[in-house]
Amino acid sequence: MTSSHDFDLLVIGAGSGGVRASRMAAAKGAKVAVVESRYLGGTCVNVGCVPKKLFVYASQYPHYFKDSIGYGYTVDNMPRFDWERLRDNKTSEIQRLNGIYERMLEGAGVTILEGEGRFVDAHTVAVGDQTYSAANILIATGSWPVIPEIPGDEHIVTSNEVFYLPDFPEEVIVIGGGYIAVEFAGIFNGLGAKTHLVYRGEPVLRGFDDDVRTFISDHLDQAGIQLHYHSTIESVEKLSTGRYCATLNDGRTLEADLLVCATGRKPLVDGLDLSKAGVVLAPEGHVSVNDHYQTNVPHIFALGDVIGRVQLTPVALAEGMYVADYLFGDSPKAVDYQSIPTAVFCQPNFATVGLSEADAASLYDRVEVYVANFKAMRNTLSGNPERTLMKLVVDANTQAVLGIHMVGEDAGEIIQGLAVALTAGATKADFDRTIGIHPTAAEEFVTMRTPSRIVGRAVD
Ligand code: NDP
Repeated sequence: MTSSHDFDLLVIGAGSGGVRASRMAAAKGAKVAVVESRYLGGTCVNVGCVPKKLFVYASQYPHYFKDSIGYGYTVDNMPRFDWERLRDNKTSEIQRLNGIYERMLEGAGVTILEGEGRFVDAHTVAVGDQTYSAANILIATGSWPVIPEIPGDEHIVTSNEVFYLPDFPEEVIVIGGGYIAVEFAGIFNGLGAKTHLVYRGEPVLRGFDDDVRTFISDHLDQAGIQLHYHSTIESVEKLSTGRYCATLNDGRTLEADLLVCATGRKPLVDGLDLSKAGVVLAPEGHVSVNDHYQTNVPHIFALGDVIGRVQLTPVALAEGMYVADYLFGDSPKAVDYQSIPTAVFCQPNFATVGLSEADAASLYDRVEVYVANFKAMRNTLSGNPERTLMKLVVDANTQAVLGIHMVGEDAGEIIQGLAVALTAGATKADFDRTIGIHPTAAEEFVTMRTPSRIVGRAVD
């Protein structure tokens, strides 16, 4: 690259999207720096997807210990759980990944600048007392958890802190009904804490398919999580016992050792001095970008959580690829926001791609809905009451599969493959002529023959 600047691309934020864009740009010959003040790998690696999934695995063991009895094992005493060991082993694993990220960036020739980046002008970023100029700048600063302002909110923690708790709580209140709340309620409950979920709506996971939401809510209840629907926390008080007392909107009180708020994440733009670069924020607080991830200042780009679109690591990765290709390659591939597969690692896991039944019914004239709700083979001898839900949403006119949903063991692993089929435009006939793998739960997806119901704009 030819440039009078220190760098062809300076990336602020070494999270999923920032690291991907940096590495790909460097691989295409650009001179790249990435600024990071906190940790390499961002939320996903440090206080998100990765440690969360490790905790989910940990929280599933008590189930497996109990289930093994039906399979012939004698479990005289349930194994004792040691929070400190789990927490510290997780931290060691994260540090290992941080090292991999560092070596990956350095191996790609990316300069890592440690510190907070802030704009000095549209081509200059200060890090500590040094300034660096760049032909292009990418804002990839991610997002940060939001805690609603209430009296006593200083007693509430977020997912950031949960990964480093000094002690495991005996009783916990999780606030929210989205991804993080549902996942952490499952983790705390599985690891043995008495768990309350306080959600302002009902059932959990607004925005997803209604059958799925009800099914997951029923399983949260069945797992022993205390569900408080249509509830918000109005205030929190610290008691002399060291516990906390939360007052709900209906006047009831709940006591717990820990309150965890999971009520969404806001774009992280604090301290960037965006105005010095002339970058304008959207009224909602995110950095607005066009189809090429350009802000209102064309050589300043943004991606990932900070742009207020989709807060998912694989989406940020795809956006990072696009920006690197757009700037230094020749064939950037637009990110397909239509059919983003996603999973919620509640227990059992939930994964989905495409349209919910309700969305399909509002967009298409006739929609065939195939539903299977069954006990997976693993749960026969174990006596585990957990069930599996699978759902296909199909355009009756074209037979195109519009939505695929599953709640059950390894749903994420199964839906990832089916997402390829949906993205490729598979029809129900393609599913029907696919031979099942027997005996699996997944084979149900290719053996559902009779619609459970027909819905749609043309259906009364
Ligand atoms: P979500 O947006 O998923 O959920 C926020 C929840 O908090 C909703 O239930 C919402 O209620 C509720 N809420 C919002 N504001 C308030 C308020 N003022 N008072 C009470 N309740 C409130 O956010 P999360 O924090 O769970 O996660 C953030 C994002 O991170 C997710 O959207 C997802 O994109 C990503 N993520 C992805 C994961 C994965 O891929 N497995 C895992 C974890 C996070 P309502 O439904 O009524 O709006």
